[in-house]
Amino acid sequence: MQDFLSFIQNLDIDAKKVFSIVSNNPLVTKNTILKLTGTTLSTLNRVMKPLLDEQVIVPAGIDQSTGGRKPLLYDVNPGIAYILGLDISRTYTDMVISNLKMDIVSKRRFLMDETFLPDVTVSYITACFNEMLLESGIQKKDVMGAGLGAVGPLDRKKGILINPDHFQAPGWSDVPIKDLLENSLGIPVFTENGANCAVLLESKMGYGKDCANVAYFNCGIGIRTGVISNGNIIRTMNNVEDAFGHMVVDMDGEECYCGNYGCIECYSSAAGILKKYAAEVKKGRKPISELNKISFIDICQAADQEDELSRETIINAALALGTGLANFMNLLNPDIIILSGPLIRHSAIYYETAVELAMRKSYLSTDHVTFKRLGYFGENAISLGAAAMFMQKLLV
Ligand SMILES: [Zn+2]
Repeated sequence: MQDFLSFIQNLDIDAKKVFSIVSNNPLVTKNTILKLTGTTLSTLNRVMKPLLDEQVIVPAGIDQSTGGRKPLLYDVNPGIAYILGLDISRTYTDMVISNLKMDIVSKRRFLMDETFLPDVTVSYITACFNEMLLESGIQKKDVMGAGLGAVGPLDRKKGILINPDHFQAPGWSDVPIKDLLENSLGIPVFTENGANCAVLLESKMGYGKDCANVAYFNCGIGIRTGVISNGNIIRTMNNVEDAFGHMVVDMDGEECYCGNYGCIECYSSAAGILKKYAAEVKKGRKPISELNKISFIDICQAADQEDELSRETIINAALALGTGLANFMNLLNPDIIILSGPLIRHSAIYYETAVELAMRKSYLSTDHVTFKRLGYFGENAISLGAAAMFMQKLLV
């Protein structure tokens, strides 16, 4: 369709609601839509007409579960438009092109070293985007826009990265990333913090579907957190993602880069793990190889192979995380907690130790709490979540 973006933006609020219901409930009957909207059949028929005429919603089978006349099932026409999802993290950028059912049709990931200044990164994203279009046979006019899941703190309305920590290249403060991307890609861009994108997607279509309270933690260079409570994203000032990471778990603890002492980030992040490991080596303990060549992934792997210092470092990191998670559970009583990110992917010890302690130290009953390792969407949770966030912003 020509200019699908304008078509969606110009729908009235009732049509947007119906489109949203069909998006979130594939293969749905009119009866179910009526129950969810509380409207009448004649109103629903009027509201659905433009969506059906333009084949945005299509009949997709017959409901076999009921007696009598079998009702039609409706679904979103997935290939009528596409969305670019971007996850610009500190050490990599993840990109997906998804259809309207949030199926990934093309993806890319590239690592970012000290040469990836903002301009370089945006140019690289644009080059990858053009390659992805060619490979998938999708025309650029059919990509209605991009969602960006960014590292906070973030002015999400203006699309400015304020002063994120731990980027390897200089120049990542006060970056008008939305404008840079829109100028380079030639499509509209919405920005949100990355952890919020991931928790939104997990709650709509992943492990958190049907749960009112969902928490997503991404444990890597830093600890990034997105929280949905009673169906709503909990927003922090300036959309920071690391507020949980700066929860104090040791009153007399180590100095954090934020200026406080004893924050979870000091112990449980990849940066914290490397710092702690180096401090023990400087005290005379034997490293697994030359200190400047050891990554946090090496420490995770050595811990699995019973290297004493690595195992101790990973377990202590996980205990600090588990303590913070117990506090978090006491405060917000989540139904599901998704632990994701490189540390969770590379270390079962880290994941299992943190979960065991969190469950044991929780003040409230944990019978209803489920932990999930890596999430339903794995390492594409933020980028695909950013695409889902773009769609959601169009429909409100
Ligand atoms: Zn701190």
